[in-house]
Amino acid sequence: MTSGDGRPHVVIIGGGFAGLYLAKGLRRAPVRITLVDRRNHHLFQPMLYQVATAALSPQDIATPIRAILRRQRNVEVQMADVARVDPATRTVHATNGQSLTYDYCVIATGARHSYFGRDDWEPHAPGLKAIEDALEVRRRVLLAFEKAEREPDPVKRHQYLTFVVIGGGPTGVEMAGAIAELRRYALARDFRHIDPREATVLLLEGGPRILTSYPEELSTRAKADLRSLGVDVRENTLVTNITAGWVEAAGWTIPTATVVWAAGNQASPLVATLGAPLDRQGRALVEPDCTIPGHPECFVLGDAAAFMHQADRTGPLPGTCPVAIQMGGYTARAIAADLAKKPRTPFRYWDKGQLAVIGRGHAVADIWRFHFAGFLAWWVWAVVHIAFLVNFRNRLMVLIEWGWSYVRYAPGARLITGETGEFAARHAHRSP
Ligand SMILES: Cc1cc2nc3c(=O)[nH]c(=O)nc-3n(C[C@H](O)[C@H](O)[C@H](O)COP(=O)(O)OP(=O)(O)OC[C@H]3O[C@@H](n4cnc5c(N)ncnc54)[C@H](O)[C@@H]3O)c2cc1C
Repeated sequence: MTSGDGRPHVVIIGGGFAGLYLAKGLRRAPVRITLVDRRNHHLFQPMLYQVATAALSPQDIATPIRAILRRQRNVEVQMADVARVDPATRTVHATNGQSLTYDYCVIATGARHSYFGRDDWEPHAPGLKAIEDALEVRRRVLLAFEKAEREPDPVKRHQYLTFVVIGGGPTGVEMAGAIAELRRYALARDFRHIDPREATVLLLEGGPRILTSYPEELSTRAKADLRSLGVDVRENTLVTNITAGWVEAAGWTIPTATVVWAAGNQASPLVATLGAPLDRQGRALVEPDCTIPGHPECFVLGDAAAFMHQADRTGPLPGTCPVAIQMGGYTARAIAADLAKKPRTPFRYWDKGQLAVIGRGHAVADIWRFHFAGFLAWWVWAVVHIAFLVNFRNRLMVLIEWGWSYVRYAPGARLITGETGEFAARHAHRSP
């Protein structure tokens, strides 16, 4: 079970939550680790919506993977896009033509958004998974206000000032709440010809309620809090088409220049190259030790895995940070057990609950048997999120940014970056 210098070679694909916590968990193990990621940074996805709504800057929630693992001597970080994993030959193939052989391979490549077969919707309704997505959404949101400011036609102006968020899960709820606050507080006094507070924010949910994974009373509370921020929450409103400038949903045509997609997920396409059984979202149906059938040396973790062996649950474990973190820690222990020639114990997820933020001072919490909402839930949310940021600089910067915006109602990252001229031309062409 060795390669190269005599130590077993562990190849980790993905420096997200699962991959990073696994690498850290193996810091004292007698293994050689290669962590491969297509990006050079670890991203704290739960705060992406704050970059998308100008509350935080990208560097506040992203940290170079090399910097995080700088002191860990048994890890080498490689920036590469992995195209394929071949469990039969124990080889990882990157798109740059390079390949790596392994003793253990861990696929922790997360998920992307899914448009349920309508990939043509993506250019009109970006989702939030990467820094680039958040910057694109921020650009579109802020540009919509700029264009409305100089638009004489009231019909077009209304279109620019209509923001549609699709999907009433935690990301959609957070995004709709943050846009509503941005227009009500931060932008309210910045314009001369429009009143940003008159902008419409719509949250469309296909199912009967928002936050379906939460108890019904918290869904109801979240809806009430969103309404108090001026968000128009529409349940049972299935989106049937998205085109440039329009959303069609439940027989209703909504003119809008800015749509955010928060409705579906699909596992990273790398998982399909393993030849293992998959669920409908393309996740690997893993064994109780998070490996794929017939390959105890090949693990799939986090959002890329469908773990169905938790006795107290029906269906797979949710795609959340705690699941990914715990799977990373478990896999480090499983590899260490192998090296010590001890049996592996099955993975078991310890569910600490769930939190969703709605706006400044408003959140809902479902923690063990306790369901609560409002300022206390928001405070718990803030503490937990700060605690899980990976380094001290990020924690400090986020605290300062939040403190400033909380006191001043003024998020500081309201910059429009990227190809604004090109966007403006394209956008003008798309408008009715
Ligand atoms: C907007 C948003 C808000 C969220 N909010 C919450 C929340 O409040 N609470 C919560 O618990 N969870 C939340 N989540 C979910 C949580 O972020 C994920 O469950 C978690 O990040 C999954 O971790 P992971 O390690 O499986 O994958 P990720 O963290 O997604 O990491 C995957 C890594 O793999 C890399 N990668 C992908 N493909 C390749 C490839 N082919 N080659 C090389 N590298 C590759 C990526 O660059 C990335 O670094 C949120 C997610 C999003 C998108």
